[in-house]
Amino acid sequence: MHLLIMGPPGAGKGTQAGRIGAHFAVPAISTGDMFRAMRGLDTPLAKQVQEIMAAGAYVPNEVTNQVVTERLLSDDCAKGFLLDGYPRTLQQVDYLDGVLDEGGRAIDAVISLAVNSDELVSRLIKRGSSAGREDDTPEAIRTRQQVYVDQTAPLLEVYRDRGLLVEVDGLGEVDEVTERLFAALDQRAGSGSALVGGAS
Ligand code: AMP
Repeated sequence: MHLLIMGPPGAGKGTQAGRIGAHFAVPAISTGDMFRAMRGLDTPLAKQVQEIMAAGAYVPNEVTNQVVTERLLSDDCAKGFLLDGYPRTLQQVDYLDGVLDEGGRAIDAVISLAVNSDELVSRLIKRGSSAGREDDTPEAIRTRQQVYVDQTAPLLEVYRDRGLLVEVDGLGEVDEVTERLFAALDQRAGSGSALVGGAS
């Protein structure tokens, strides 16, 4: 099972990714979490990544691709994975295609969590005060949303054209969204796609 989850900042990707990963018994891999884990490291690269993230910009493709490639080589990815927040640029899409091709693997579905932008800003401001994320300041939020629109939203069309996109309304309670999401994935499985029932 090889899944991607996409959506604008604040759409709730991380929360839903954990649930989907558990359901299909595959690791939910968040590039944002991996970059945040570099926070304590005293290397020039770690510092550069922290500065980029705090500003709400994207980490360079070469760095991101490298981090993901190494992670996908881990044993726990042998049966699949759910990538949360990767790919985010067209270059990353191409790169991921190459990595998967080489390993004889293919993406089964791309989940798109859609939430309107007013709701997103209020969610992010709330999260900034509760989770202490330094990129949840109003200025960084604006940058992240713009970068998403410019660089990541076009990816939805790429995956739609490939017949992989599963669109889910991300508005509402977390449990409601999870239900919607599994219903959409089930429907896709029922329509003859490669998706099959999960582990739980
Ligand atoms: P997230 O936790 O997914 O919202 O990601 C937080 C931040 O990590 C983003 O705003 C970027 O600075 C960086 N990041 C995460 N994933 C990527 C990616 N695929 N490409 C570039 N930067 C990324």
